[in-house]
Amino acid sequence: MNLVEALAVDVGPRPAGTGAAERAADVVAEAFRELGLEPHFQEFDLLGYEADEPELEVEGERWPAGPCMYAHPFDGSGAVRRIGSSAAPVGGGRLPSFAVVDDGGRELARLLTSPFSTGAIPFMSTHVHVTTPPTAFVSRADAERLQDGMRVRLRVGGRFLPGRRERNVIADLPGAGDGHVVVSAHYDSVWCGPGAIDNATGVEGIRRVAEKLSKRELARGVRLVAFAAEEIKLTGSRYYVDEATLREQLGDVKGVVNLDCIGRGDKLNVLASPAALLGRAVEAARQLGLLDRYELETGPATGGVDSHWFAERNVPAATILFFPYDEYHLPADSPKLVDPKLMDDAVALAVALVESQLVQPIAR
Ligand SMILES: [Zn+2]
Repeated sequence: MNLVEALAVDVGPRPAGTGAAERAADVVAEAFRELGLEPHFQEFDLLGYEADEPELEVEGERWPAGPCMYAHPFDGSGAVRRIGSSAAPVGGGRLPSFAVVDDGGRELARLLTSPFSTGAIPFMSTHVHVTTPPTAFVSRADAERLQDGMRVRLRVGGRFLPGRRERNVIADLPGAGDGHVVVSAHYDSVWCGPGAIDNATGVEGIRRVAEKLSKRELARGVRLVAFAAEEIKLTGSRYYVDEATLREQLGDVKGVVNLDCIGRGDKLNVLASPAALLGRAVEAARQLGLLDRYELETGPATGGVDSHWFAERNVPAATILFFPYDEYHLPADSPKLVDPKLMDDAVALAVALVESQLVQPIAR
């Protein structure tokens, strides 16, 4: 089974809390079964969210806007006011943030700049789900056209859906020694996004890592985890780490190798913590010849990736990705974008990093 096609085409957009996300979990479990593994689900309760496409008019003209993955609703008018900016994660410069204010200056809603891609993408706001103000995202180019005092009409439509369930999909490859290395990727997508690159490629990547490792004698166990609900603030991986902490099982995790967007993109990104693991990952990339082929970007394992919660609890963790790419979080993120060479290289690096940690885990 090729999980890029199966998730991005057969299932399609699969935001957390939807029936499509449920089907995606079943597809991943089936792929693990095809490898001779016995998957199980880690279920958790979720307050779901169903977004509508935001309607944005600026000075009477319709502008494209992406929904926030979790926001309170709003329907009304006001004036634009710039409230701050943040460093652009790619490409340099600053990304402005705006409020929509009423005549008394009270903030009614937010217009944030899409941090990645060329379009107005669905994305998360800075705030946690339960407190996120009515929010929509505009493209970087449109954010530059917004001026204080411009008249805005905005409708942010979205419904919180109680009683939903989500599932992390887990399968274990046994090994000789104690503990295991987690190999992970999220399988959910954003609103209206087929998510071929983000992150059907990562899920197919962990399937291939397992395929390679299942033929070898392993020094320790390897645990595959396909995380749910990443696109709503890393919720599935957070549940996994919180649950392992509660049950005093986080010590069993000797290391984490997470794959997120491995089929397209300008640069090889290796995000790893602590520094000893990052050094090992960069050396592995060098030995595979990847540093001759790609520009390398490095950083800690924290931030907008599922390795975040592990790294935050001092579990050695790495995320491998190719980034950025223009179609990120857009309906155009389809399988035809996938460069098989990038996937092969990311999988080879992941296998090297898993094997190295099986034999010699990084000290916490
Ligand atoms: Zn992703």
